[in-house]
Amino acid sequence: MYTPKLAVIMVGDNPASQAYVNGKKRDCEDCGIEFKLIHFDKNVKQITVEKTIRELNEDDSVNGILVQLPLPKHLNKQAIINTIDFDKDVDCFKELSLGYLFLNRPIFKPCTPSGIIELLKFYNIPIAGQNCVIIGRSDIVGKPLALMLINEGATVTVCHSQTKDLKYHTTHADIVICAVGQPKFLTADMIKEGAVVIDVGINRDEQDKLCGDADFENLKNKASAITPVPGGVGLMTRAALMQNMLNTTW
Ligand code: NAD
Repeated sequence: MYTPKLAVIMVGDNPASQAYVNGKKRDCEDCGIEFKLIHFDKNVKQITVEKTIRELNEDDSVNGILVQLPLPKHLNKQAIINTIDFDKDVDCFKELSLGYLFLNRPIFKPCTPSGIIELLKFYNIPIAGQNCVIIGRSDIVGKPLALMLINEGATVTVCHSQTKDLKYHTTHADIVICAVGQPKFLTADMIKEGAVVIDVGINRDEQDKLCGDADFENLKNKASAITPVPGGVGLMTRAALMQNMLNTTW
């Protein structure tokens, strides 16, 4: 029997990053995947991180490599991620991996978009032919999700901070995916009756409680389905990473 191994690179002591890394370690333990953490001081040099990734690329016992973001500002994030070998890029963040995703031939799928699509499929929510509105155009959620939904046959609109009349777009959507990072950003007047709401946001409310971007209480009677925070897209993202690990070559 062969046990796959995930190597995670973390720089500095950002508490949120630490919590995410701990979660990944637990998920690996639950799935029988070995976990290796390489933890650098916040002042680490670019060349040291890249050299470590090259060594992990050469290490046949390591199947997946990811760099926990954000990185300190003195580091070139994309250059570091691009150092990861294509067939070990389980976050699907390197430029080459995104190119393959664009052509609908990815080895790995980016975790949050992939988790969202799996969730829609699990609940038998149709995607093909549906009007999907994504709010947010980040490189890790909005843009790759738009590509993946197009590949599933959806008609996709990507809205962002410069969108004129956001409500016009969201009220015409069958599925609204909100990835803005502001509590209670999406309210009932912004969706049509029976729309599906996918809440990607991870925020803290006034009581420092974890919450999403959607005003859940306000939306739950108007939406036909809505994801909670916590316990929704975040869990799917974690599951998608484990799925990618099981799809590595070993
Ligand atoms: P981001 O933080 O990089 O950018 C926010 C996006 O929101 C931008 O594209 C911006 O144009 C858009 N935006 C801001 N104000 C807007 C407005 N008034 N109207 C319309 N659009 C507006 O995006 P991100 O990295 O995708 O993160 C978004 C949220 O999702 C954050 O809360 C983040 O923590 C969360 N997140 C969750 C997961 C998960 O697994 N659940 C994964 C990644 C990110």
